[in-house]
Amino acid sequence: MSEPDSLHFQSVSFTGHAPGARLIVLGAVHGNETCGTQAIRRVIAEIESGRLGIAAGSLTFVPVANPLAYARKQRMGDRNLNRNLMPTDAPAEYEDRIANWLCPLLAQHDVLLDLHSFHTAGQPFVMLGPQDNRATLEPFARAAEETSLALRLGVRRFVDGWLDTYAAGVARRLAAGASSREADVNYGVGTTEYMRAQGGIALTLECGQHDDPAAPAVAYRAILNTLTHLRLSTAPAPAPVADTEALRLYQVVDRVHAADAFARDWSSFDRVLAGEVIGTRHDGTPVVADSDGYIVFPNPNALPGQEWFYLAKRSTRV
Ligand SMILES: [Zn+2]
Repeated sequence: MSEPDSLHFQSVSFTGHAPGARLIVLGAVHGNETCGTQAIRRVIAEIESGRLGIAAGSLTFVPVANPLAYARKQRMGDRNLNRNLMPTDAPAEYEDRIANWLCPLLAQHDVLLDLHSFHTAGQPFVMLGPQDNRATLEPFARAAEETSLALRLGVRRFVDGWLDTYAAGVARRLAAGASSREADVNYGVGTTEYMRAQGGIALTLECGQHDDPAAPAVAYRAILNTLTHLRLSTAPAPAPVADTEALRLYQVVDRVHAADAFARDWSSFDRVLAGEVIGTRHDGTPVVADSDGYIVFPNPNALPGQEWFYLAKRSTRV
């Protein structure tokens, strides 16, 4: 068998006796991000042993959303599963096959908790969806419910503005004549955007650095808190986290040339001051911060034409 044909998709579901919310929890959407997989398997074992009860609603775990990337211990199989996520009649890449299995499964649920980790050291954070709006990009009417859950995951840093900022970057690439896949706003649709488009609420929890031994515990606590907040389990519901820090992405800067280089080794959420040099273009032009804020998702290895880093500012949302 070829490598993909030796793999399979796995979901594990539990249903309580009483009606309730339908929750789905994903691990390893990116194959090298295993904290969610570990936490999911721990919770499944506790449910199966009777230590944790599911009293109401239903709960589906996908321990490994991208089995090819997971088998290879890398972020992607053929491409990033968390981009351009939608079913297709003509699956070409392995992630298309995942999407044809995963998207209908997501659509059977009300709430998504998607567990990830990140490349450089730093504290965990939650990616929130948009505020309620009727715009065409990502219309949404459940921001209060989504935020309420986010405040109970056990993490104090919150980031929003992803798809708005991504779409602005796409518009700029199109204006510059780009025709690549990165110039399609649908390319910004990942698990959470797909879930919201199906009427659900959805959170991405970034649990810590990939190899941080604390990250699986962050993921585990978030699952248990979600179960009690949604009343799937009967343990006391968690209180909302105090001392929150909310940031909003507002700009994405692309790498234009392979010789574009950062001024230093940036980590996500490093502070930048207005006028500070973040990097230098291949022709020597400095790339500076336009205001005080934070650098987020810096990628020194970004391909030309793709996202190099994002900028964020403080927000009062949470
Ligand atoms: Zn990830």
